[in-house]
Amino acid sequence: MPNMSLKKNVMPEQPADVRNKNFLEVALGYTPEQAIDEAKRCLQCKHKPCVGGCPVRINIPAFIAEVAKGEFEAAYQIIAQSSSLPAVCGRVCPQESQCEQKCVRGIKGEPVAIGRLERFVADYHNQNNTELPEKPVSNGRKVAVIGSGPSGLTCAGDLAKKGYDVTIFEALHTAGGVLVYGIPEFRLPKAIVQKEIDGLKALGVKLETNMVIGKTVSIDELMDEFGYEAVFIGSGAGLPRFMNIPGENLNGVYSANEFLTRINLMKAYRDRSKTPIQHGSKVVVVGGGNVAMDAARCAKRLGADVTIVYRRAEKELPARAEEVEHAKEEGIHFNLLTNPIEIKGKDGWVDKITCIRMELSEPDESGRARPVAVPGSEFEIDADCVIMSIGTSPNPLIKSTTEGLETQRWGGIIADEETGKTSREGVYAGGDAVTGAATVILAMGAGKNAAAAIDEYLQNK
Ligand code: FAD
Ligand code: SF4
Ligand code: SF4
Repeated sequence: MPNMSLKKNVMPEQPADVRNKNFLEVALGYTPEQAIDEAKRCLQCKHKPCVGGCPVRINIPAFIAEVAKGEFEAAYQIIAQSSSLPAVCGRVCPQESQCEQKCVRGIKGEPVAIGRLERFVADYHNQNNTELPEKPVSNGRKVAVIGSGPSGLTCAGDLAKKGYDVTIFEALHTAGGVLVYGIPEFRLPKAIVQKEIDGLKALGVKLETNMVIGKTVSIDELMDEFGYEAVFIGSGAGLPRFMNIPGENLNGVYSANEFLTRINLMKAYRDRSKTPIQHGSKVVVVGGGNVAMDAARCAKRLGADVTIVYRRAEKELPARAEEVEHAKEEGIHFNLLTNPIEIKGKDGWVDKITCIRMELSEPDESGRARPVAVPGSEFEIDADCVIMSIGTSPNPLIKSTTEGLETQRWGGIIADEETGKTSREGVYAGGDAVTGAATVILAMGAGKNAAAAIDEYLQNK
């Protein structure tokens, strides 16, 4: 008999007034009993609508059926056929707009908690299987992967399994891309990402950190001088945008990426950390996406009074509803329908931010209501730190140093949607470097498709 409860099993969490002072994971994960109970909510629909909502087409009813029987390892093996990062995606996928949005249980009540079940299964596997994969027999053909985010890691893993000699070149000193430098520990513990990277190394993937492709060495040199027969570009979209308002050069103004990198990658949250960071008492975060929520929640954990300033209203906030809810519970203030127009300084440091009230008018080209300034409504907010979180774009370095690589005007690399093939022979691309800032699962899917296309290309070469 299916469990006909209209509600998902509640995810155990750290209480808001405890977690807003630490960087430990907020959501604690289902117990086996909760996972089995939740799995029994699945109706095993013949047409599997949920699968259509998953960008990598995980066989959702099949893995959930195994969970319902308590066969957690069997469930993992089903997920692993389609996804190489289930412990990551089970945590950070926007399930409510993907698989769970298509779940029939969501028509009357809440959908099956597919993401939470995926996380449970992946965590079970990771806790109970410490064996690393065996190294496949090498075919001796060299492929370079640029960037170690989800697209690069997935592409590298799939190619290594086929016997290619894969090297990942990463600009930073640690691998993982946004999974380690952007998404905070309290949403995605770094040990999970490290386990994936250890698995890749066991497959024989080489990792060269502190290698900025386009500066240390170019793609042309990798291919013409170092013998790489194909290249995958998974360099993400890490170049921050600013508002170009007066005062953005003051001390105490950060891009969200820089602020999060200092905290996550450079461990500024540790008590004795020497990484310089604003332990400001009044922090204003500008923007309303997931990145803004992460920056705000990190600043709160460093002890600040945090306000999010966003130019549209609550229902237009681009962040996941769950992230907004968590931010509110943790005591973050929201100043909506508000736009900054100037940052004022004192002795070279941020002192105040002048804002103007906005009202919404006709929808713009994005389909969302256009915010328009209300004349004479300027006001000031005290602040000693301002974090700009209004979007990012791909860094132009690779384009400017690679012969024959075409890009969009906004910087995204032009690549075939199915294969990742670019205008330069033997060079493939995927993830945020192609689409602009998107999601982990889409980047992973692009890395997977490109690995298949690179394999086909090299087999026919
Ligand atoms: P990235 O993860 O950006 O990795 C690119 C890597 O390439 C980086 O390590 C970079 O250092 C390296 N690189 C760049 N240029 C070079 C070069 N020239 N040479 C060598 N290496 C280079 N998505 C979700 O699905 N759910 C979420 O909850 C979520 N939260 C997010 C929170 C934050 C703070 C941010 C910033 C993003 C979030 N995203 C989220 C988006 C998601 O993380 C990205 O879409 C995804 O990581 C893109 O993967 P990628 O492999 O294309 O690039
Ligand atoms: Fe849903 Fe993401 Fe898992 Fe696919 S990978 S089933 S979209 S949580
Ligand atoms: Fe189960 Fe929902 Fe998928 Fe139906 S749509 S198989 S109930 S998860």
